Amino acid sequence: MAVETPELQEQARAWLAENLPAGWLEAIDSGDDDAWKALAAGLDYRDWCIRLGEAGYATPTWPAEYGAGLSLSPPDARAVNDVLNHYRVPRSFNVIGIGMGGPTVMAWGSEELKHRVLRPLATGEEIWCQLFSEPGAGSDVAGLSTRAVRDGDEWVVSGQKVWTTLAHISRWGMLLARTDPDVPKHKGLTYFVVDMQAPGVTVRPLVQITGDAEFNEVFLDEVRIPDAHRLGPEGDGWRVAITTLMNERVSLSGAGSLLGDTSVVDPVTALVERCRPVGDPRLRQRLAQAYIDNRLIRLNNERAAARRRSGAEAGPEGSVTKLQQAEFNQRLQNLSVDLEGPSGLAWIDDGGADDSLGLVPRVGEEPRAIARAFLRSQANTIEGGTSDIMRNILGERVLGLPKDPDVSRDVAWKDVARSA
Ligand SMILES: Cc1cc2nc3c(=O)[nH]c(=O)nc-3n(C[C@H](O)[C@H](O)[C@H](O)COP(=O)(O)OP(=O)(O)OC[C@H]3O[C@@H](n4cnc5c(N)ncnc54)[C@H](O)[C@@H]3O)c2cc1C
Repeated sequence: MAVETPELQEQARAWLAENLPAGWLEAIDSGDDDAWKALAAGLDYRDWCIRLGEAGYATPTWPAEYGAGLSLSPPDARAVNDVLNHYRVPRSFNVIGIGMGGPTVMAWGSEELKHRVLRPLATGEEIWCQLFSEPGAGSDVAGLSTRAVRDGDEWVVSGQKVWTTLAHISRWGMLLARTDPDVPKHKGLTYFVVDMQAPGVTVRPLVQITGDAEFNEVFLDEVRIPDAHRLGPEGDGWRVAITTLMNERVSLSGAGSLLGDTSVVDPVTALVERCRPVGDPRLRQRLAQAYIDNRLIRLNNERAAARRRSGAEAGPEGSVTKLQQAEFNQRLQNLSVDLEGPSGLAWIDDGGADDSLGLVPRVGEEPRAIARAFLRSQANTIEGGTSDIMRNILGERVLGLPKDPDVSRDVAWKDVARSA
């Protein structure tokens, strides 16, 4: 018998009441922010993510048979996510795994692989990363050089990846490699799930403008991958990669994404509350514009979610919201710094922080968080495909404009001129 939505929401609330620290729900319901912050600061984040994942609430649409997920329809999952968002429930930072790795494995992986990887992925016990970009292949990722050569039941992989977020703490990587250099670039790729702890994998951190080292260089030196960890047919890796990339755009689109709205509070409302009263009429006008922009993104996300509810896969509409969200967040963080005045640029070394990546959700808006958010937002229009590339996709796939000229598209990859 189908469970009614209010009943699902009541079940979720009851589960939270039983599993979150005592007083959490009451603190939120009564608006006691200080009490909630004290409870949030004391939460064992890792243990919490495991419990949330095992209960199925981290990935409510995933089939329960894989040990994480509630087999809910997207609308029911949304209703449950509304409860989690209302109670500011911390989620796993395994966003690449949950948003992209899991959906790709579910679409293309063997049953054995699904049973092996999905549960620890949802609980955050095994972190995932995406090994697509290379020093010579970013926007044109299909031109990548990392080679995979078959050896019996295994593949031997050598090459270099770059900008690999979370690689330094990952157990598994989504790897796109070239298996046939004699055909045009999109046709000679194969997709693998690689064990980041396998011999031959070397990870070197890259420090960003924020001072954090969120991403890495990854060197693959004759790394052996079992054929059972191949996703999709040999030579069909581009199609599998499209599944990952479509889900990436949806994941990066903010509210209404497949993960649900994981932001704690509406960012514009949070800004208004932090800075009120705002005397300068020009700043007030920018705040009003931010409110409108945020509403538009949410409505577009709703539209994309409605499309998925009707059974459609993530499509080019993800590029609309990815583009909007990236540019909106940069404007918002600029505004946030301007509203704060000189202290918005302050960079306090909070020395004792045990989370140098800024991955564990922070409570409050200390100056470091404001400056960090401003600096971090510079990456928004690059990561997950640049805004130029999103505009190309929209032009071609939504507006039906002629394709971006690409002289290498139909040439065997080995004959394409390249600098290295
Ligand atoms: C914070 C962050 C995290 C990232 N994490 C990951 C990750 O986990 N895994 C991963 O694989 N990659 C990751 N990336 C890499 C990201 O996907 C690439 O940086 C991005 O695709 C752009 O590639 P590129 O840096 O090589 O720039 P290029 O492709 O060299 O682009 C340079 C410039 O040229 C423009 N351009 C290029 N081609 C076109 C075109 N056809 N039309 C118009 N303009 C064009 C671009 O818009 C850009 O302005 C991450 C990047 C960032 C910033």
